[in-house]
Amino acid sequence: MKKLILFDIDCTLIDTGGAGMSALNEAALEIFGSEGPPLDLAGSTDSGIVRGLFEHFDRPYDPKIEEEFYQCYLPLMQRNLHDSSFGGSVLDGSIDLIARLEDDGHTLGLMTGNIERGAVIKVGHYGLSEHFQFGSYGDDHWDRNKLGPIAIQRANLTTGKNFTVAEVIVIGDTPKDVACAHAIGAPCIAVATGAFNEDQLRECGADRVISSLVGLTL
Ligand SMILES: [Mg+2]
Repeated sequence: MKKLILFDIDCTLIDTGGAGMSALNEAALEIFGSEGPPLDLAGSTDSGIVRGLFEHFDRPYDPKIEEEFYQCYLPLMQRNLHDSSFGGSVLDGSIDLIARLEDDGHTLGLMTGNIERGAVIKVGHYGLSEHFQFGSYGDDHWDRNKLGPIAIQRANLTTGKNFTVAEVIVIGDTPKDVACAHAIGAPCIAVATGAFNEDQLRECGADRVISSLVGLTL
């Protein structure tokens, strides 16, 4: 059966080497006056992180300030991606896996906590844009568990196909990716190339756990 495969970005397809985290901290300093608490980035949505900053600084949520935050964050992130001292890279096996899945006729999309503009910058920077024509993003909803139905809807709009959850596979690197897949009843292949090791990913209920994307077959 041809599948709809929804990829997380950070620490699944690519690792920015902390370029994203550094940009978020710098934007928090600019917009909120301090870097704030240690950010729990793994699997979080950008909009969830910004909402957390409002809470931390005891400020009422304001969508205009949230947008100012992104206007500050995005160029910083882009600058950092070009800064080789971060040492970001495409993760082993990503490019080969993408090519094989496409050759096999599967449909690829993104399901990521990055806001869409951030996702476009990251995926573009690492030369993967042409493979991802649609996705659901961290500015579609602050709650990652709400992103699945949006991704399926966009997949169908973009491809003219009629995917249902039965055809979806999620690939991600955190318990939040697993939860997000299970929220729509889809399986999650969890790859231990991020902050969580294989045991931790198994414990959170991942349907399949792999050490890297190298050689992955469905
Ligand atoms: Mg990730």
